Amino acid sequence: MIAHNKPTIEPDDIRAVAKVLSSGNVAQGERVADFERRFSLAHGGLHAAAVNSGTSALHCALLAMGVGPGDNVIIPSYVCTALLNAVRYVGATPRFADIDPDDLNISPDDVRRKVTKKTRAVIVPHMFGLPARVREIQRAGVPVIEDCAQAVGAKIGEQPVGTFGDIAIFSFYATKVMTTCGEGGMVVTRNRRWSEAIRQLRDYDEKNDLRTRYNYKMTDAAAAMGSAQLAKLGGFIRKRRAIAKRYDAAFAGKEFFIDRAGSGSNIYFRYLVRIRRGQAEFLRRAAAHAVGVKRPVFRPLHAYFGISDRQLPHTASAWRSIFSIPIYPSLPEKDVDTVISFLLNYPA
Ligand SMILES: *Cc1c(COP(=O)(O)O)cnc(C)c1O
Repeated sequence: MIAHNKPTIEPDDIRAVAKVLSSGNVAQGERVADFERRFSLAHGGLHAAAVNSGTSALHCALLAMGVGPGDNVIIPSYVCTALLNAVRYVGATPRFADIDPDDLNISPDDVRRKVTKKTRAVIVPHMFGLPARVREIQRAGVPVIEDCAQAVGAKIGEQPVGTFGDIAIFSFYATKVMTTCGEGGMVVTRNRRWSEAIRQLRDYDEKNDLRTRYNYKMTDAAAAMGSAQLAKLGGFIRKRRAIAKRYDAAFAGKEFFIDRAGSGSNIYFRYLVRIRRGQAEFLRRAAAHAVGVKRPVFRPLHAYFGISDRQLPHTASAWRSIFSIPIYPSLPEKDVDTVISFLLNYPA
């Protein structure tokens, strides 16, 4: 079976983690502070606070901004449930915006249509590695949380994602572009007060006041791997782009080929194809050919609420027809060949 996705774990990652384990200091400490410094440097010198997952990062971002009960937060529906959960943790209400069919990211026009007096924030994920139109969304006049969980290292012009919004979150889950021992997250912001608030929220111990706090700390072992992975991020992205280029060359002009227009550079967290009909059969054939193929979003969020597909037509259509095929730095050439020949020969 050609895996759909895989972390890139190399000897230097293992050495970095082993060094921390041997030191005996495995909890949040110097390695976390060091990872935060490096991550900040890669993101315009903004404040960076490490946490234990992308979900915690979203939760902390909403708490720091003071989003709570009675507030609305606009999020796309074509995304994982982590966003929905974070909005619900703070007691706010999610409002779903449709995507644009050309880039599959949250639609600036639909965000503008859905803003009301109750809207306190919009979460803008850069989906599948391609930057969303974050600048257009900012013109809606609502605070923007950039969700860079799938797009670390992607840029709009020369500027990395995560430096546009009021605050930004990252995930270092096992199968994201880089990982910190399987789970991890980061919050980046130019707002020092928010960053300090997050440092307070993530750590409950030895505090004099009775604020509700969390245990969202990253471990030093995870952070040591994070620094090792961050140093290799440029190489990871180059490899992803090289595979995408091979797919593009093989697939250009085919009915299933997708040319995502976007506002920035794609780092190809996912490589997407569009299967217009017979989607169940496509999944069966892929499995029979031992090619790891998935819907890149498990289920659109509006479906959990019984909201009609007619309200979010582009989301519904993308969810039905879009699939992702294997792409990750360690994917062997011969597996790329296998994936290409599977698709070129489909439905044969
Ligand atoms: C993975 C992901 C998250 C959540 O990150 P976790 O580290 O798994 O909690 C949030 N947003 C997006 C867009 C993601 O892909």
